[in-house]
This record gives sequence, structure tokens and C-alpha cells, in this order.
Amino acid sequence: MTDATAHLARHLADLQTWDSEADDTLVCTAVVDETHDVRTFVFEPPEPRRFAYRPGQFLTFEFALPSGPVNRCYTISSSPLRPHTVAITVKRVPNGPVSNWLHDHCAPGTAVKAIGPMGEFSCLDDPAPKYLFLSGGSGITPLMAMSRAFADLGRPVDVVFVHAARTPGDIVFRAELDLIARRLPGFRVAHLPERAGGEAGWAGPLGRLSAEFLALVAPDFKERSVWCCGPEPFMNAARSLLGALGHDPRLYHQESFDFAKLASAEPEVAAEVLDAEAAEAAAVPTYDVTFTKLGQTVKVRADQFILAAARDQGVRLAASCTEGLCGTCKAKIVSGTVDMSHKGGIRKKEVDQGLFLPCCSKPKSDLVVDR
Ligand SMILES: Cc1cc2nc3c(=O)[nH]c(=O)nc-3n(C[C@H](O)[C@H](O)[C@H](O)COP(=O)(O)OP(=O)(O)OC[C@H]3O[C@@H](n4cnc5c(N)ncnc54)[C@H](O)[C@@H]3O)c2cc1C
Repeated sequence: MTDATAHLARHLADLQTWDSEADDTLVCTAVVDETHDVRTFVFEPPEPRRFAYRPGQFLTFEFALPSGPVNRCYTISSSPLRPHTVAITVKRVPNGPVSNWLHDHCAPGTAVKAIGPMGEFSCLDDPAPKYLFLSGGSGITPLMAMSRAFADLGRPVDVVFVHAARTPGDIVFRAELDLIARRLPGFRVAHLPERAGGEAGWAGPLGRLSAEFLALVAPDFKERSVWCCGPEPFMNAARSLLGALGHDPRLYHQESFDFAKLASAEPEVAAEVLDAEAAEAAAVPTYDVTFTKLGQTVKVRADQFILAAARDQGVRLAASCTEGLCGTCKAKIVSGTVDMSHKGGIRKKEVDQGLFLPCCSKPKSDLVVDR
């Protein structure tokens, strides 16, 4: 048997469900380029599990960034009818720490922590005979999960899927959406790039959501349950356009990827995320790290780098590379132990003398540092 077949056999044999109370680690198995700045990351648990979720729900991840652990939410873009893996599809946000870390460092084999699924943005929770899915940019992910689930069932649906993008080259899941539209009766796709960009032969509509565009792709839009996700200006424009055209607001649903906005629109969902993050954090021991010369003590979790945690709490420590290369932050341990993963910024002789690099060390006990 090849590796892949052996792996498949394991997945088919073990049908235990992923349970966030018991399971928290996912391992990346594949990375797929969707567009020039959007990538899909496929994950599975270390031991085979089945994921149970409603399409449109998200997971809250904890990523081990060099600066310490950071939490972010990502919608599951894969189909719940293919429950052995989950995928997230992430757009690079300029200067965004997590989205860029995922693009640059998450590869097959990378382990991440995840809790969930959570969230209430799923057409399953408010079923309707006809849907209009409106997506912009990375907001396509919950609508893609719903569409993939419909496609996996193969029963006729009545869905108009609109995806707004900057150019045809920015259309996420373009080929797959076109394929679903060819194979699933009643599923129609209308890509709406703002401009043709490099695709000279683009024959479809161009521009932004408008009354004319809606009349063209979904003349019966007033009868449709609308599910909208995308950048805030996109969702604001969609909502006011539909309102102005007489669409019943009770048939309109939207999800924000901006955590603060999600928290104000859906406090219960945000509270669930924050509670889960707090429970996760409480499961990791926290140690007191005292800097004797500075006369300051900070709380550092066992999974945080000491320099980053101390800086977050206002302690000014000299450092340069922040990744264990240069040795600028070298300091002496008076008492306690650390877990250090340096990249050559300290010599073995120095470590034997009790020196360490706070930028790449996590505490294993309370710590007193001569600094
Ligand atoms: C429900 C939900 C689903 C999402 N799904 C997707 C998706 O499918 N694809 C995609 O590309 N992006 C998605 N996002 C956005 C994603 O979480 C990140 O905000 C985005 O990738 C940018 O992160 P960044 O660190 O690169 O940039 P930043 O701009 O630094 O991050 C965005 C801001 O969000 C805040 N924030 C984000 N998550 C949390 C959290 N869990 N707790 C507290 N604060 C938080 C941060 O404080 C930060 O200010 C989703 C967001 C939410 C809330």
C-alpha cells in the first residue's frame, strides 16, 4: 500500500468525531494557491477524526508566531460532507501578522491549535427555497462551504452565487464554482470583477453591485434569502442597495470578518470565541518572570516567548533580531529554567554559565533574570 492509501484506510476505519473539549491540534496536509494572494490550507487531526459543523461556521486558531501565540478566526471553506479534513482559505492582509505568517510559513507538517467550530452564519439555521449568495474577496469562504455542501448532495437547488473581486485574476474558486454551476441543477454563478485587469478576453459584466446587475443575474432577488460576506464597504453597499430596492431585511444575513464588528453585531458568537480562547489560555501554566535590575515582574505563559510577553507588558528590554540569531538580548538566569530554541545567537559555554536569550525562550518555571 502506498502512504496515501494507508492513510485513507486509517481515516475510513476511525469515525470518532472531532471534539474541541478533547482535541485541539490540527496538522497541515496541503497548501493550495487559489489566487496570487489567497491560499487554502488543508488540515487534519494527528489521529483521524470526523468534523461535524454547519457550513459557514468558523474555527478559532492559536498560531505559534515568533512573537508568541496569536488567535484568529477562520471560516471552514471545505464541505461538511467531506468530514475527514477541514480547509481554511486565507487572503494576505498587507502587514497582517497572521495571514502573512500562514502564507509564508504554514506548510504540510505544520501543527496549529484550533477550537470550535462556532458561529451562526449558516443557511442551515434559516432555510429558504431560494438563495442569493453575495461574496466579496475572502468573504467567499462561508458561502463556498455552503455551495460545496449543496454540490456534494447533488440535489437541485436555487442559488445565485455572486462573487465580487478586483479583477478576474482575483476570483477565488473560479474554476470550481463554474464546475458546480455546470453540474448542479439550479446553481448559477455570476462573477463580478471591478475591472478586466490582465484578462483581455473577459466577456462577463464588470463593475460593482448595482440595481442593473441584480436585475440581470437575479431578477427575483426580493424572493431570495440573501447571505452576504465580504469587506465592510462591500457589505454596507449590498445591504443599502437591497434595502433601497425593497428587499425584506428579515431575509438578509451578513457576517463580518472584522472581529470587533462581529462582536458588536453578534455578541453571543464573540463571547463564545473569547471564552474558548480564555479556556485555552487557562490550560497553559503562567509563570512570574522578574527582572531584578529593572525591578519589574511580568506574567509569561509557558507557550510565550519571554521577550515578546515582557514587551507587551511594558518592559523595555534591549533586543534586535528577536529570533535567537544575534544575541543582543542575552541575559543571566538567577533562578528558574527555560526552554530555549536559539539559532546560533548564544554559545554552549554561555548557556552552561546560566545565560539565555529571552527572545527565543519560554519559561518552564518562575524565573528571576539579572536584567
Ligand atoms: C468569524 C471570522 C471568520 C473569518 N474568516 C476568514 C476567512 O475565511 N479567510 C480570511 O482570509 N480571513 C478570515 N477572517 C479574518 C481573519 O481572522 C484575520 O483577521 C485576517 O486573516 C487578518 O489577520 P492578520 O493578523 O493578518 O491581520 P490583522 O489586521 O492584524 O488582524 C485583524 C484584527 O482582528 C483582530 N482579531 C482577529 N481575530 C481575533 C480573535 N479571535 N480574537 C481577538 N481579536 C481578533 C485582531 O486584533 C486584529 O486587529 C475571519 C474573521 C472572523 C472574525
